[in-house]
Amino acid sequence: MIDFHCHLDLYPKPKEVVSECIRRDLYVLSVTTTPSAWKGTSQLLADARHIRIALGLHPELAAERKSELDLFDALLHETRYVGEVGLDGTPAFRRFWSDQTYVFEHILSACEAAGGRIISIHSKRAVSEVLERLETFRDAGVPVLHWYSGTQSDLHQAIDLGCWFSVGPGMIAGEKGRALIARIPKHRVLTETDGPFCSLKGRRAYPWDVQAVMVALGEVWNVPQDEVAKILNDNLRRLVSAS
Ligand code: MN
Repeated sequence: MIDFHCHLDLYPKPKEVVSECIRRDLYVLSVTTTPSAWKGTSQLLADARHIRIALGLHPELAAERKSELDLFDALLHETRYVGEVGLDGTPAFRRFWSDQTYVFEHILSACEAAGGRIISIHSKRAVSEVLERLETFRDAGVPVLHWYSGTQSDLHQAIDLGCWFSVGPGMIAGEKGRALIARIPKHRVLTETDGPFCSLKGRRAYPWDVQAVMVALGEVWNVPQDEVAKILNDNLRRLVSAS
């Protein structure tokens, strides 16, 4: 099983969650929300063979932490993965729009200069603005849109731009999300939880809850679970070897 976007460092008992991920042999991409979280998260995950860490600066923290871009640049050579980064167009964060675009564009440009990265991207209520920048920074790497919640037409543009999609509990709950999933090419899909910030059946989601996402993918795709697992594992292998 694969959780391609969660925040292991932000669970109340991160060590226990990491141990359970290792016990279940999960493949996890643990995204960070600030460059200063990189060091501690690296230590937390030092022994986990199938867990990778992404270097990030979350759009909700862009205004407060833009001074950490120097640290971002200094750490970028240590990882192939960047995230969580992106733009957030919800009213609470729109007012920091210029900081958000400054940070996101800086990061995409740094990824380009570094030869490309696999980038886990937040695009809540800002999909077209994110896509515009991905078009400008074509060589930033492989964008993986996390928890996509935009329109069908933006989805088509994202697919044309080469985006991948990590699908989580928030997308399988309603008809809209399932309709979007049905339109994403199967070979561009990965699973995620966005734990601990996403809940499932009224409780906090853990990385192994991607199982519920796999069940939903099986329903949407109309394929059995072993086939879902095979598609996702092949996708991960292809993503990691291609970039
Ligand atoms: Mn997240």
